Amino acid sequence: MIPRFKPFLDWREIFAAVSIPRKDDIDRFEKAFAKLMGQKHAIAFPYGRTGLILLLEAMELKGKEIICPAYTCVVVAHAIVYSGNIPVFVDSQESDFNMNLDLVPPLINDNTGAIIATSLFGYPVDLDKLDAIRKSFPHVQIIQDCAHSFAAEWNGRPVQQEGDAAIFGMNISKLITSIFGGMVTTDKDWLATRLRQLRTQRLKKPTFIKSLRRFIYLILVYIAFWEPIYGLINRLERIKVLDRFSKYYDESKIDMPKDYLVSMTNVESRVGTTQIKKYTTIINKHRIAAAYFDEKLLRNEEIKRPIIVEGATYSHYVVRCRTQSQSLYQALCNGVQLGQLIEYVVPEMKAYSCRIKRGQCFPIAHSFPKTTINLPVWTEKEKKINRIINF
Ligand SMILES: *Cc1c(COP(=O)(O)O)cnc(C)c1O
Repeated sequence: MIPRFKPFLDWREIFAAVSIPRKDDIDRFEKAFAKLMGQKHAIAFPYGRTGLILLLEAMELKGKEIICPAYTCVVVAHAIVYSGNIPVFVDSQESDFNMNLDLVPPLINDNTGAIIATSLFGYPVDLDKLDAIRKSFPHVQIIQDCAHSFAAEWNGRPVQQEGDAAIFGMNISKLITSIFGGMVTTDKDWLATRLRQLRTQRLKKPTFIKSLRRFIYLILVYIAFWEPIYGLINRLERIKVLDRFSKYYDESKIDMPKDYLVSMTNVESRVGTTQIKKYTTIINKHRIAAAYFDEKLLRNEEIKRPIIVEGATYSHYVVRCRTQSQSLYQALCNGVQLGQLIEYVVPEMKAYSCRIKRGQCFPIAHSFPKTTINLPVWTEKEKKINRIINF
């Protein structure tokens, strides 16, 4: 079976995971990450969401309105709430799934603290529009959510560098992984210093048990994504046996993983450092696959292809299709696991629908969960891509 995503792991990550711990493992990971992103500072966290919580705190935002997309990963909204702030959701745009920045200015007031600009599915956020917003509202901080995009570029400008800070997630479904883990990058010295202070104050040191668990999880990932096994894994996933490992949210709850305030382990940082060396290779695979899909699906009238944007990193290749659920099922029968990355609109979830202003609606975002399908874009091998296309 062709899985919907697959981390690019080989013997190098295992070797890194079992090598002798060094005191500066985390430090080295941060330095390599900052260099990769072309930024002065990178600060590692156990999850991207933990980074966001402490970042908002470091920016001294409390009781503020934080503007974010309605169609994004729900953990972003959870982090805003956990930091003592209020999420304000914005509808998406049809073209590239990103937040519609034209809707943002009317939502800004004196109590607005920050905008979380997300480059969803690897599509760079429109930096020209963002520049205009920054100029008109200098009191609003800009946080780039690069969990999907990493170093996507808008007309040659890397998105992560165009704000006060950027956040990244690095679980196994992201472009590069440190098993779990997240990063915050910034060019501002004071912000980096403050974040490091907060991290020391608020996060516990990881125990040996946590490191061991992360290591075992890594080994299980190798086994699970081994193709002969993957069909079985998929079946177990469908009967919800694997929810403990794969389910990351509860429709009606605003919560965090138990260990969200326990620092990243050294094992994770060593795996992450190894992945950084593969970054260019991985992005190229995604770009080649996206271009190939674009060409081959040109004449398919059942589906709407996503736009091709120079500088996008294609963490996901997302088509629109009216017969989504049948297609997902039929593909599985043909040995292709198509995915559906975000199957909700955050302000329409139970946990948030009671919190938003009456009458606010998100018509574009609302249409995404029922019509989007992600094609597996982790391999550039023609044989595999053709199998997906033929289906
Ligand atoms: C994965 C992700 C994050 C961060 O997730 P963590 O699991 O907390 O590391 C943030 N934003 C988006 C859009 C994501 O997909």
